[in-house]
Amino acid sequence: MMILKNATKNYGADDVLKSIDLTIEPGQIIGLAGPSGGGKSTLLRCLQGLEPLSSGTLTAHYTRGFMFQDFQLFPHMSVLENLTFAPMCQDKETDHGKAAKALLAKLGLKGKEDALPSQLSGGQKQRVALARCLMMRPDFLLCDEPTSGLDVATIGDVVDLLRHVHSEGISLIIASHDLDFLTQIATRIVVLAQGKIALDMDPRATKDAIQVLKPYYEESL
Ligand code: ADP
Ligand code: MG
Repeated sequence: MMILKNATKNYGADDVLKSIDLTIEPGQIIGLAGPSGGGKSTLLRCLQGLEPLSSGTLTAHYTRGFMFQDFQLFPHMSVLENLTFAPMCQDKETDHGKAAKALLAKLGLKGKEDALPSQLSGGQKQRVALARCLMMRPDFLLCDEPTSGLDVATIGDVVDLLRHVHSEGISLIIASHDLDFLTQIATRIVVLAQGKIALDMDPRATKDAIQVLKPYYEESL
């Protein structure tokens, strides 16, 4: 399990996360929902260890990969090099190219191995970012707004892609303001509003989950 206890995060006088208690079991697809500015990205970054908590504790015995909202691919490296860079740093003896090529083919990126990130579409960049995470075989994949900037048709692809990742045994934590997307994919939805957990629900056990979630968004307007 990943456990946050009494976790707070502040930037100067700005209390962004306020006394969060959250236990995350493996095996699930957790959606972090809530209005813009509610603290979703901050919580995700704290869970990944990209940001230290200001107080409280995080217990996490799992390996974690992070898919950034803007992908953060290495711009000067080819697609293949983006995938092999981190595994190479960890283990210089193994040739990681074969695994990388197989993963790219699986994600529909065959033929793009030598392309630079700037030569790819948004959806392709995202799949490269996902493949780069999967090279490290994480227990958990953390995704920040994976549908932002994609059109509706591509959002269906993201749902399929992330469901596939989950079916391979990787637990997911997805921060997203997109309720249609989250209610399609998540097995648990945690709503963050003004830095607090406002709701923790099972969307599959709720008749009209979107209707239940909507008021948490309207409050912030
Ligand atoms: P969300 O992802 O839900 O939109 P964020 O976690 O990005 O929310 O932001 C929550 C609040 O924290 C916002 O008020 C934002 O301005 C503030 N914030 C986030 N990151 C930083 C930072 N690095 N420095 C200062 N303030 C930040
Ligand atoms: Mg965010």
